[in-house]
Amino acid sequence: GSADAEYDVVVLGGGPGGYSAAFAAADEGLKVAIVEQYSTLGGVCLNVGCIPSKALLHNAAVIDEVKHLAANGIKYPEPEIDIDQLRGYKEKVIGKLTGGLAGMAKARKVDLIQGFGKFVGANHIEVALTESTQYEHASETGAKKTVQFKNAIIAVGSRVVNLPFIPKDPRIVDSTGALELRTQNGKLPEKMLVIGGGIIGLEMGTVYSTLGARLDVVEMMDGLMQGADRDLVKVWEKMNAHRFDNIMTNTKTVAVEAKEDGIYVTFEGEKAPKEPQKYDLVLVAAGRAPNGKLCGAENAGVAVTERGFIEVDKQQRTNVPHIYAIGDVVGQPMLAHKAVHEGHVAAENCAGHKAYFDARVIPGVAYTDPEVAWVGVTEEIAKRDGIKITKSVFPWAASGRAIANGRDEGFTKLIFDAETGRIIGGGIVGTHAGDMIGEICLAIEMGCDAEDIGKTIHPHPTLGESIGMAAEVALGVCTDLP
Ligand code: FAD
Repeated sequence: GSADAEYDVVVLGGGPGGYSAAFAAADEGLKVAIVEQYSTLGGVCLNVGCIPSKALLHNAAVIDEVKHLAANGIKYPEPEIDIDQLRGYKEKVIGKLTGGLAGMAKARKVDLIQGFGKFVGANHIEVALTESTQYEHASETGAKKTVQFKNAIIAVGSRVVNLPFIPKDPRIVDSTGALELRTQNGKLPEKMLVIGGGIIGLEMGTVYSTLGARLDVVEMMDGLMQGADRDLVKVWEKMNAHRFDNIMTNTKTVAVEAKEDGIYVTFEGEKAPKEPQKYDLVLVAAGRAPNGKLCGAENAGVAVTERGFIEVDKQQRTNVPHIYAIGDVVGQPMLAHKAVHEGHVAAENCAGHKAYFDARVIPGVAYTDPEVAWVGVTEEIAKRDGIKITKSVFPWAASGRAIANGRDEGFTKLIFDAETGRIIGGGIVGTHAGDMIGEICLAIEMGCDAEDIGKTIHPHPTLGESIGMAAEVALGVCTDLP
């Protein structure tokens, strides 16, 4: 067919999955283009997700940490918060990283085509070119461009799920809106509702709480932070109880009304108050939906599920062998590191290698304070699937470093296959848990047993040492370091 340009690989979507795939394919010597509707690479993760949330959480954690110091004789006055400057810091962080990605694309001669792409056949994508000055805001210029490809990688990601009964109001936001730190009459919200007690909602709730808001959270399931073992979550809950007025689990949000003096929300369930509750800010963080139905995939013969997911095999291939899919659009867990890994697999296959997604485990982290991190078989999964496990726990109350830091509430847990003795899972709750869980991931991938981990010399005194000590607990060794 007629096309304005021809590529070995066209990647649809410039998020962490898409740009990783594109860069890897270019490194293989392939001619590559990325089609992205907004003006920056990085997708949700970099522009309105992982990175901006962590930029804000870092500042919140420092404010909270400083409060802890009062007990050590170091007292600061209440922080003076310039919200515009804080927002500016977050924007600067994003700018540094999107700038870096643009440079990496250029260095690899990856063409960036800015526009909304739709498959118009098995080897063609038509792009409606766009102008965009802000992520999640774009307008079509009217110009179109058709690109031809040998291989395509669908990396269109996911979007916020909007609840149908929620009215449009600036005081009701999704995660993107929450990251904007808007003020009302020059003030940050004093009372905030988080709808959805998952990682995204609790991370943003943490930020607003540290900046002065009282929190309510409503969750349909029987507990917050689904996926993590309850013993980990309990520690987080205890340390964060002061932020919340009301934690409503097993509860549904049934009505939301925007009035002049606030947003009134009605709940139904176990711990639901009878009367509608009034909030200054409502964050809807009730999940994300895949974008598979919004890219004309059917025109290329690619099967999309009812919910908008695109199914793939272990090589990331869709039902159409030269079209791959990666990232949030192929399924749970919707996490950036999973998208990147899948992107590399797809790129290698485009280059003619045989690559497979064979990661044993994908870690999950809530970057709250303390952080909660888990990977592989949890106790919940073991119970559900009848996997025989042994576990060993090292409480941070016995960690010299955690005590020195004044943060010894955490613990490190390792989960072993009861028959083989190999590690199959783990969880950490405590400061920096997310930075440490990688060692447990590696141990699982390498098929380590308690001896491998326990006899590895960890630096003392560190929080990471708690992983070695948990293994020593499993070996029955008395840990005498602190
Ligand atoms: P996306 O990042 O969604 O990127 C897809 C891109 O494709 C978008 O830029 C979109 O504009 C573009 N696109 C879609 N359709 C088209 C089309 N037809 N034409 C042109 N362009 C198109 N994950 C973590 O691992 N760690 C975290 O700490 C974390 N924090 C998060 C915090 C928040 C607030 C949110 C919302 C998410 C967070 N996530 C986190 C999840 C993470 O952002 C996603 O898993 C990740 O971005 C998925 O990458 P992706 O490449 O699949 O898609």
